[in-house]
Amino acid sequence: MAGVWAVIRSRLGRRFATACVLAALVPLIAVAAIFLREALIRQQADREAMQQGRAESLARSIEARLSASDDLAYLLCRQADSLNEAQLREAVAQTGIFDRLVLDESGAKDDASVGSLLDAHRPSKVFVARPLKIAGRAYKAYFFVSNEWLWRGVTAQTPIAVLDSGGKLLHNSIATYSEMVNTIAAQASASDAASNAVSRRVAWNADGHAWAAVVVPISLLSEHGLGVRWQVVAYDRADGIAVIDSLPFRALAALAILAAALAAALALAVASRYVLPLWELQAGLLRLGQQRYVPLKAPDHDEVSTVVDAFNDAGSRVDARIKALEILGDIDHLLLGATDLEPALDAILSRVLTVTRCQAVGIALLDRDSPHLGRIIAATEDVAALPVSRVEFDVDMYQRLLRSNEALTVARCEEIRHSFLAPLRQYGANYFWVWPVHANNRLVAVLAVGFREAPAPDPSLAENGSQFAARLAFAVSKTQRDEHLYRQAHYDALTTLPNRLLFHDRLVQELANAAASQSRGALLYIDLDHFKKVNDSVGHAAGDQLLTIVAQRLRATVKEGDTVARLAGDEFTVILRQVADPEGAAVVAERIIDALKMPVNISGRDHFVAASIGVTLFPDDGNSLEELMQNADRAMYRAKEAGRSRAVFFDRELMNTKQTATQSGLYRALRRREFALFYQPQFSIADGRLVGLEALLRWHTPREGTRHPNDFIPAAEATGLIVDIGTWVLEAACAQMANWLEQGIAPSRVSVNVSAQQLKFAEFPRIVKRTLDRFGIRPELLEIEVTESVFVDEAAGEALTQLAAIGVRLALDDFGTGYSSLNYLRQYPIQLVKIDRSFIEEISVHPASGALAATIVTMAHALGKEVVAEGVETEAQMNFLRDRRCDLAQGFFLAHPMPAENVTELLKLRSNRLQPDEETLRQTG
Ligand code: C2E
Ligand code: MG
Ligand code: MG
Repeated sequence: MAGVWAVIRSRLGRRFATACVLAALVPLIAVAAIFLREALIRQQADREAMQQGRAESLARSIEARLSASDDLAYLLCRQADSLNEAQLREAVAQTGIFDRLVLDESGAKDDASVGSLLDAHRPSKVFVARPLKIAGRAYKAYFFVSNEWLWRGVTAQTPIAVLDSGGKLLHNSIATYSEMVNTIAAQASASDAASNAVSRRVAWNADGHAWAAVVVPISLLSEHGLGVRWQVVAYDRADGIAVIDSLPFRALAALAILAAALAAALALAVASRYVLPLWELQAGLLRLGQQRYVPLKAPDHDEVSTVVDAFNDAGSRVDARIKALEILGDIDHLLLGATDLEPALDAILSRVLTVTRCQAVGIALLDRDSPHLGRIIAATEDVAALPVSRVEFDVDMYQRLLRSNEALTVARCEEIRHSFLAPLRQYGANYFWVWPVHANNRLVAVLAVGFREAPAPDPSLAENGSQFAARLAFAVSKTQRDEHLYRQAHYDALTTLPNRLLFHDRLVQELANAAASQSRGALLYIDLDHFKKVNDSVGHAAGDQLLTIVAQRLRATVKEGDTVARLAGDEFTVILRQVADPEGAAVVAERIIDALKMPVNISGRDHFVAASIGVTLFPDDGNSLEELMQNADRAMYRAKEAGRSRAVFFDRELMNTKQTATQSGLYRALRRREFALFYQPQFSIADGRLVGLEALLRWHTPREGTRHPNDFIPAAEATGLIVDIGTWVLEAACAQMANWLEQGIAPSRVSVNVSAQQLKFAEFPRIVKRTLDRFGIRPELLEIEVTESVFVDEAAGEALTQLAAIGVRLALDDFGTGYSSLNYLRQYPIQLVKIDRSFIEEISVHPASGALAATIVTMAHALGKEVVAEGVETEAQMNFLRDRRCDLAQGFFLAHPMPAENVTELLKLRSNRLQPDEETLRQTG
């Protein structure tokens, strides 16, 4: 409805509607007019005929009546001689034709005549005058004809007048037209002169109307000598009102309204098909003017849809062009700000994908030294960053690209010639557009755009591609230029090492990296000893040579990725990344000192320089550039003070709290492999045989030396890291066991301590099984030590059952310190009970402790378990346990926990001698 209203309001709609209404009405009106004219003509003819007929017939009947009147008057006059006057009058009255008789003595000699008596107030009277004799006396008799008789048949409906020879009105049928009489008389008499006896028409205008009349003459000459010359005039209005009245105007008007309405509705309906799309087009064009293109829906009819299609087509092209320009502008902006080539390339790749809608796009950057080789950085519509591939350019292809300034199209890839497109082809692209990118008269890159299907010919593709290639050329030459400037600003011209500026950048970056990855690095501050002497004695040129050689040697001592910089004169720095412990830094420092100790031969003379090095670790010794530099500098001075040619670590008490250090250190320890396993042997008390080894965790921290588990296991448990650490312990112990097995010196079992948290972890039994399988170790060779605390948790109990099912041995550690419940011993498949060290310690001090230890042995034996005494430190304890028939002993008296290598030696010794005596064991421990 709103649409219709809008169409009505539109100029086009209104014009259209007006035109249609006119088109409908004009013929209608024309037809009506023709009909009207026809009707008028016919009416006039009818009227004329009617008037003629009436006038003629009236004239004839008046003639007849006058003639009859004359005859009668003649007869009466003939008879009058024989009658008296009264009789005569009587006879006249009886005729019914005459209604009056007037006798005049004076006029008797005259002839017969007809006359009329005109009176303004009464109807005129017509008479026949005749001479007669009554009783011999001559008179002139006037026979007045009865008006009723004479004018019979002249009705009031038809206006008709009778005039006498003098033009006087004898009779007029319609009284209302009496005013007309004079006019009629004038007209009739005017025409009379011209045409006497013939009937004729006259017309005139009066009272604002047209009039028409037929004048018929009455010309009578009776046999009795009477002559009459009258005129009958049939007249009427001739302006056709009657016709107009008679036409069906209401019907016509209704028809006209209907036609107009229909035409208007039709016009609006048709117009709406054009007006609305026209408006949309108008709005679309306005938007396009504001660089906003919205496609229009083409109506499904005629030319309008063609126009809309054409608009959409043009609009999408304009839009694509605008977008492309925007994108190019975007890239320009990016290129101006970019310092690195890579982000610029990524930006170009993603935008080329957007603009060309290709499947895959690649930028091949040609190597500077060997331009036939290059690397191609690619992107596809689905994967933004694809791995970079190395490519090689066919010589012929290379030459062609070198010479060409325009895009090449590749419709059929050849294996060798187009091998550089292979990385793009694997993503389904088959048809390529390739643009060579020139900078500084060199072919520096190639931009390749790949399509799955051959793209429709589109000049904008070539245009856009060339624009992108131009940007690429700019980006490459800019980065080359930037690189040059960058080198100038960031590298020492003499040694080509990074200068102070770049060193600062790198150090700040490394500090941030270390903080982010919780890793450690080292900063070495190197000052050459006695360099000034060289400079002074052999000159600056020689000094420069020496510095260059020093720089080379320094570079050679560090790994790829570490930074060697020259700050000034004979001051150098080294940034070491990923330093596990101070040892790592110390090793490098020593290597540098050794390298610089070597003589430097300049112009046939050996020169000796040395280096004093201050070593700082970060973040340990500082986490800001200034702090670290200051500390390294201090350490370097201490090295000089200490006698030069040495490295000195910056020394400071750990500032962080122990707990946090431990926690954060544990992650690193695990990652940096700072953990190690020590093994403590368990011996059979009866025959001194080495039966098992308990794996005990050690943490070799970079700064605090070796730390014991009681120190950090609680923290590992608190952070949940114990699960990962425990898994590592299990793997390390199994790996070691596998190694011993391979050497044929394996003990009967190795035991591993497992915390309650590990047991709660549902995966644990499966991890154990997998680890055993992985290292090919029979389950009974592994013993898992748990403390009574694990029984608090049902899940842990379940895990124990599963472990027993796997076939590993279970040992109950630190027995006596916890619940010491016999129930647990009965309930779970535990093979070994380990009496806690605290009981053993007090055996000789408190007899009660000894009694308790003895009871545990008896009780465990009663339940069929083996017993180990932990922490055996003296011979007395040993003897006591032997007396109480304790099965095994473990403790410093027999062997300390020791690194795997020592155990290996011990095991080898054992296999050679078969039974080592206790004395040997003590020595090894
Ligand atoms: P534990 O399982 O009772 O291990 C025996 C501890 O007593 C070891 O201490 C060992 O060095 C020490 N020891 C052995 N003989 C003597 C002795 O004659 N005199 C004295 N004074 N001590 C002796 P370590 O290695 O410090 O281990 C302490 C505890 O840390 C272990 O007690 C064990 O509960 C736990 N632990 C050790 N390694 C691991 C492990 O890999 N995982 C878990 N979860 N806990 C571990
Ligand atoms: Mg233990
Ligand atoms: Mg213990």
